[in-house]
Amino acid sequence: MMKVGITGGIGSGKTTVCKLFELLGIPVFYADTAGKELMVHNLGVKKAVVNLFGEAAYFLDASLNRKYIADIVFKDEQKLNALNAIIHPAVKDAFLIWSEKQKTPYVLKEAALLFESKSYLDNDYNILVSSPVELRIKRVMERDQTSREKVLERIEKQLPEDEKEKLADFFILNNEELHLIPQVLKIHQQLVLLAQQK
Ligand code: ATP
Repeated sequence: MMKVGITGGIGSGKTTVCKLFELLGIPVFYADTAGKELMVHNLGVKKAVVNLFGEAAYFLDASLNRKYIADIVFKDEQKLNALNAIIHPAVKDAFLIWSEKQKTPYVLKEAALLFESKSYLDNDYNILVSSPVELRIKRVMERDQTSREKVLERIEKQLPEDEKEKLADFFILNNEELHLIPQVLKIHQQLVLLAQQK
């Protein structure tokens, strides 16, 4: 199965773009959602999370205490790295099992930190969705009802745009002038051809 990663900075529109690929029949694996699910349902992952953060990582009803974990990893980079070292291999396995079940010419894996986590290396191709930073800030402030400062804080934690551009094979520009659909269709056609040649 041909694997294609898709990413973009916060508010770039990667989820919106993924919905368009889904309309074309291409299945999308949402890595960040999968990671959150594994923390709740995968026994091995849960054990490792408790080892790292203690029993307080879960409530008595077995649901995840996200705020407790978020507060710790926000201040402690070592804990964040240790958490990623638990989640990333589990997500990678889940993606491989899922992708083998799909019947399309290629599949998409959406991940916010595709390049930062190095997981782009496992894919055949990677797509970068870009938007002007001011537009991203405006969209996220509206979507999440949050402040400019909070959005900027999250943007600063991600790899700079020019670094991502060097690593991507395909680009989608989601600004206010260009339409997304023709860009998605063109890349889809190219990917179908590449899958045939594989
Ligand atoms: P995050 O990293 O925070 O998950 P994202 O990159 O997945 O963000 P989206 O959620 O797709 O970004 O888009 C951010 C917001 O901007 C959403 O509310 C979405 O509906 C809106 N948006 C994205 N692209 C467009 C567009 N071309 N026209 C209008 N609204 C858009």
